[in-house]
Amino acid sequence: MDRRKVLGSIGVLAAGTALLPALTPRKQADKLGIALVGLGNYATRQLAPALQATEHCYLAGIVTGTPTKAEEWSKRYNIPEKNIYNYENLDQIKDNPDIDIVYVVLPNFMHAEYTIRAFQAGKHVICEKPMGLNVQECKDMIAAGRKAGKLLQIGYRLYYEPHHLAAHKIGSNQEWGHTVFMESSLGFRMAIPGIWRLDKDKGGGGAIMDLGVYCIQGGRRYIGEPPVSVVAQGYNTNPELFKGIYESVTFQMEFASGAICNGTTSYSAYVDRFHASGEKGWMELKPCFNASQKVVIQSSKDITVNGTVNEYQQIAQMDAFALNINDETPVTASGEEGLIDLQIIEAIKRSITSGQKEKIDYSV
Ligand code: NAD
Repeated sequence: MDRRKVLGSIGVLAAGTALLPALTPRKQADKLGIALVGLGNYATRQLAPALQATEHCYLAGIVTGTPTKAEEWSKRYNIPEKNIYNYENLDQIKDNPDIDIVYVVLPNFMHAEYTIRAFQAGKHVICEKPMGLNVQECKDMIAAGRKAGKLLQIGYRLYYEPHHLAAHKIGSNQEWGHTVFMESSLGFRMAIPGIWRLDKDKGGGGAIMDLGVYCIQGGRRYIGEPPVSVVAQGYNTNPELFKGIYESVTFQMEFASGAICNGTTSYSAYVDRFHASGEKGWMELKPCFNASQKVVIQSSKDITVNGTVNEYQQIAQMDAFALNINDETPVTASGEEGLIDLQIIEAIKRSITSGQKEKIDYSV
């Protein structure tokens, strides 16, 4: 489906709103209801449009601190007043049977708090990446989900993207022999003073937190196991802008098989690619990780890509989670997966400080 068609269908929905009764029925057929928490860029440009095309879930509610946004979204997506919350009264969502899943799309420093609040309100949770600011927050979030008996998914849309799944299958099954090395990089220009992403306490440490999860996953998902050690360096050419955080980080992950993955993340320059080279072939995904472009593969051998490539990668991600809830099946992009990435990021940060190769202990 092309973007204009999706936007077109939203327009029809909005125009038709006046003809509908004031309140929508309890459920759209048997779809699960999602409430988006935080109506910023990602929720507005990607998640809400994706939710117009999901099969097993739909946009049922919103949580926002901005009354004008509440009004705008309510009209645009036909969200009834009773499904609109703010950050203070969010906990009352526990009494709302329309909302099955709370999707936390807030700045990184708010992920743990709002995920735990949503679990305490008895809802399933999708939380955006990076899962938390540190390993301890991730563990607290997982514990809260277990206590509530509810499921947690991390917003890792690429765990459900057909090209990434094809690469994962070839690499983890060693279909092209042993992997020798990988390169996995993502960078954007984020030189905007004052934004939460550049605030050490709110973003958690700049590009390595925001974009690093993708580069790490590129390598570890391809190989099919987490790295055993990492060595990393941090760079900062503009300490006024990047206060207390690294502008760019390069790191090398080493796997038990001896394979290595070189990664680069940057808030100063563009890069978006994954390259894997093995005994019997190589592949490159480029663009690879960003949410607004389709993935393209080049390779030395033919690759079969199964499944539907949607306009929005989040359609498959959110539908998969709804099916996990309905069918009581394990979540692929689970909290445990989010935790692994934070364990690796913490080792990367330790290595930048120590200047040494750091072992990664997944048992702590
Ligand atoms: P954004 O700044 O555009 O939106 C953040 C939202 O949080 C805004 O609506 C803001 O009003 C609200 N908010 C509430 N309290 C706030 C506070 N104290 N400080 C700042 N904002 C506050 O950010 P975004 O780009 O939408 O990112 C949100 C989350 O989504 C981040 O965790 C980010 O990593 C993640 N994200 C994921 C992807 C992906 O592909 N999975 C893509 C983009 C962003």
